[in-house]
Amino acid sequence: MTTNGVHLETVPHWIGGASVGYTGATKSEIVDPATGHTLRTVELGGADVVDEAVASARSAAEAWASTPTPVRATILLAFRALLLEHTEELTSIITAEQGKTLADARGEVARSVEAVEVATSAVQQLKGEFAEQVSRGVDTYSFRQPLGVCAGITPFNFPVMVPVSMFAAAIACGNAFVLKPSEKVPSASVRLAQLFAEAGLPNGVFNIVHGGVDAVNALISHPDVSAISFVGSTPVAREIYRRSAEAGKKVQALGGANNHLVVMPDADLDAAADALVSAAYGAAGQRCMAVTVAVAVGDIADQLVAKTARRAEDFRTGPGNADGSDMGPLISETAIERVRGALDAAADQGGTVVVDGRKNSTEAAGHFIGPSLVDHVRTDSDLYKDEIFGPVLSVVRVDDLEEALRVVNASPYGNGASIFTASGVAGRRFAHNVRAGSVGINVPIPVPISWFGFGGWGDSRFGDEGLNYDAYRFYTKAKVITQRWTEPRQGVAPNFVAAGSQ
Ligand code: NAD
Repeated sequence: MTTNGVHLETVPHWIGGASVGYTGATKSEIVDPATGHTLRTVELGGADVVDEAVASARSAAEAWASTPTPVRATILLAFRALLLEHTEELTSIITAEQGKTLADARGEVARSVEAVEVATSAVQQLKGEFAEQVSRGVDTYSFRQPLGVCAGITPFNFPVMVPVSMFAAAIACGNAFVLKPSEKVPSASVRLAQLFAEAGLPNGVFNIVHGGVDAVNALISHPDVSAISFVGSTPVAREIYRRSAEAGKKVQALGGANNHLVVMPDADLDAAADALVSAAYGAAGQRCMAVTVAVAVGDIADQLVAKTARRAEDFRTGPGNADGSDMGPLISETAIERVRGALDAAADQGGTVVVDGRKNSTEAAGHFIGPSLVDHVRTDSDLYKDEIFGPVLSVVRVDDLEEALRVVNASPYGNGASIFTASGVAGRRFAHNVRAGSVGINVPIPVPISWFGFGGWGDSRFGDEGLNYDAYRFYTKAKVITQRWTEPRQGVAPNFVAAGSQ
């Protein structure tokens, strides 16, 4: 494809350990959100490409499943070392296609390294249980085995971390994997595949098919795919969960979110305001764990809004690769329109726009919009109910912790929720009663270290197993063995004998 006479590179699929491209394939443009310019194109695969990738995975799956777990872990360790070595390269790919700041992208790569570290401990994760003498001469034991071919479908906001958290765990468990990355940010995944191959991963164990809905449909209906991992928006997650389950597959589908941060009257308000702007506007609000609602408890609301507003006004919007940018652009013009529409409606539905990011949309061609803060947001307003996925923070005012919990728990989503307080009693009560998968106490974005599971409640996750530490159960199935060995007659053996001769 050419744009303005310039020939654009095309991001290839990755099948059987090599880049694969097809002449005449439909392509989609990858746009740098900071400039609006097309960087390159990506092939959009359909059922035929998915068939090829799944066949490649299937042909590699058996040998990979038989490869001893510590040998698999050694390859993952080599992959980890390459991720560290290529951190800056991966960081700049993320920033160019997704738009987040280089510092934030670097953090994403660091979190991916952590996910690989957890995957290298597969020997420990896959250990089963043993019960001796459950009947006379009978023992029962269990272990876990891989599923075969697993597939992952990932969103645009974490081009490296979400794919890695899926495929590192699945592959460590002895599965082969087919990844369908977001067509908006596809380049990083191909670089990951090259690095994994360099680390010694056998051909076919990891494959990538680029594309959109057609590729997803082909994966979830493919008879040789045993499990589907999905991360994206709630409507798509719900549908993928339903259809994959109907097709008899294991499925985990993580969806969208609206995360609350409750600020108690005894909290350090400066720390809370710092946390609010970081968690609401970092990555331009395009994180599933971004804070979208500040719940101000008691009489501190005016002070909290004033402190947060000052910080929001100082938050610098600019290209992700520019020094001094606190947040980059949104992924697309459509996303900008969604934020504008939400702010337009907010005022009509009772909200007070205290900081208006629309005034800050200065970069001509890029998808920039500044941070917004809206006070007195009603819980029946569209701004409160919809997932805006942009740099907009709503403030809801309540009288006490009980009312705060009622507000948080009435949300259909349950990805993350936090409280800022000086009281251990309030913190514990919040942690015990709040309906959310990840909970923070004086921590604004409580994404747990990968040694714990990750996944929300309610409409934020369909399926009962999450990512990271939970993934080992998802990517394996248990087998329970009950055995009886009758003792062979030993006969008379009065002397020492050589080892192994009996
Ligand atoms: P999205 O749902 O639009 O797309 C996700 C993936 O699904 C992409 O690969 C896309 O190609 C594919 N897809 C899109 N529409 C589809 C359809 N109709 N049928 C089948 N496949 C389809 O999400 P996005 O805009 O890329 O990512 C942002 C969303 O992801 C937000 O809602 C965010 O909260 C969510 N997210 C959730 C988590 C989590 O852990 N819960 C993590 C990251 C992002």
